[in-house]
Amino acid sequence: MTTPTTADLAGRIRGGLTTPEDPGYDQARAVYNAMHDRRPAAVVRCADAADVMESIRFSRERGLDVAVRGGGHSVPGFGTCDGGLVIDMSGIRNVHVDPAKRTARVGGGATWGDFDHAAHPFGLATTGGIISTTGVAGLTLGGGIGYLTRSCGLSIDNLLGADVVTADGKLVKASDFQNEDLFWGLRGGGGNFGVVTSMEFQLHPVDTIVGGPLFYEVDDAAAVMSFYREYVEKAPEELGMFFAWQIAPPLPFIPEDRVGDLFCVMVTCWAGDPQEADAVLKPFYDVAPVKAHHVGPMPYPALNSAFDGLVPHGLQHYWKADFVDELTDEAIAAHIDHGKRTPVVNSTMHLYSINGAAARVGPDETAFGHRDKKFAAVIAGMWPDAADNVANTAWVKEYYSAIHPHSGSEGGYINFMAGDDDGRVEANYGRNYSRLARVKAAYDPDNVFHLNQNIQPAR
Ligand SMILES: Cc1cc2nc3c(=O)[nH]c(=O)nc-3n(C[C@H](O)[C@H](O)[C@H](O)COP(=O)(O)OP(=O)(O)OC[C@H]3O[C@@H](n4cnc5c(N)ncnc54)[C@H](O)[C@@H]3O)c2cc1C
Repeated sequence: MTTPTTADLAGRIRGGLTTPEDPGYDQARAVYNAMHDRRPAAVVRCADAADVMESIRFSRERGLDVAVRGGGHSVPGFGTCDGGLVIDMSGIRNVHVDPAKRTARVGGGATWGDFDHAAHPFGLATTGGIISTTGVAGLTLGGGIGYLTRSCGLSIDNLLGADVVTADGKLVKASDFQNEDLFWGLRGGGGNFGVVTSMEFQLHPVDTIVGGPLFYEVDDAAAVMSFYREYVEKAPEELGMFFAWQIAPPLPFIPEDRVGDLFCVMVTCWAGDPQEADAVLKPFYDVAPVKAHHVGPMPYPALNSAFDGLVPHGLQHYWKADFVDELTDEAIAAHIDHGKRTPVVNSTMHLYSINGAAARVGPDETAFGHRDKKFAAVIAGMWPDAADNVANTAWVKEYYSAIHPHSGSEGGYINFMAGDDDGRVEANYGRNYSRLARVKAAYDPDNVFHLNQNIQPAR
């Protein structure tokens, strides 16, 4: 028997196949984080589930590594590889909304921009990422944190089912009624179990929200962070919010003479009754003088894409992350010490609250292992010039070293991890790791899907 070639695969699929000889190769192999300059043997832009099945079978016949790419945002560059086959899902981006059932069926390569675009005309939404170009599948499989986490739970808490091509090239359905173990693992276990070709989500009535960013002086950061720590405990769950450091970009609501200055920022999203917005948001104006703000009624997708301009495709990325038990005074001091040195307009530290509806889901109900934590912190180093890699990664590492001892948690959110964090994988999955390893053994015993926050199949 002769070994099948990539040309053989081209004849077996409906989508496109790009190899190093093709003119579009450099574009096809590029991922969002420009640090990853990898050269796969081929990139298959799948058109449907059958293409995914063929691609998996082909990669196994050839013994090729498999990288799966949804939105391409993985900071460790899991959506590409050297010498292997990239399964690029960006050709499967359809989103079908059923307004009567309040559900959405979403293709495995859709972005949150695609999702919001399809759901918003019906006044519906679900928890998704805060940047519209991030992939729905990659974000959801790791958990899914966004503006609606406190009211609607994590993205996985709204996942009703998924179609998955597993390591044997077969398509299976996973839900509360079929392949329940797989469905459990998909909700927090990352891309370990197969290629998700479509997902079904529960939607919620979220239309116009009242929110946006409020900018405070760095000197007020201790007051702002302390306020956040307390307010998040009692604020109505329809209020989503996170803390951020932000060098002010040249935007109309920033005073001209403050462009380029560093601020601490609270980003808010009130998804409750608009009549209550003023009362719910008033404490943000009382805590310290607000130097600039862009808070008001806006369509939910407008907020969910408001920061896109700060993070264009092709920046260098290096991130580190922790879950946080308690935001102590010592932690706040460490944040301020290092936040003050935020090096570039694209870089930040975000501190997301993950209490409310997300915390009411039991720790074993899904594979997401850290339901008891109050916050998810990410130090997101993002900068344009590769010449600045050493200085910028140093900022992230030093910041992380300073806050980690105060986190009270070994693990961090798998979707916020860097490539050199593979030593933390078990801690990141937390209490659910051994069960995840058993599900992995059942669906991917040969670890075909290993370019991810990898779970070793149980023996
Ligand atoms: C700018 C930016 C903003 C972000 N904002 C948020 C946020 O608000 N909330 C949040 O929770 N996270 C956020 N993240 C983190 C994000 O969740 C992860 O980077 C996630 O992996 C991105 O998914 P993707 O599909 O875009 O990435 P990809 O690089 O395409 O995929 C990453 C991995 O996910 C898996 N995967 C992707 N698609 C599929 C599929 N169809 N089937 C099976 N496995 C798949 C694979 O293992 C793949 O290697 C952000 C990341 C970036 C860079």
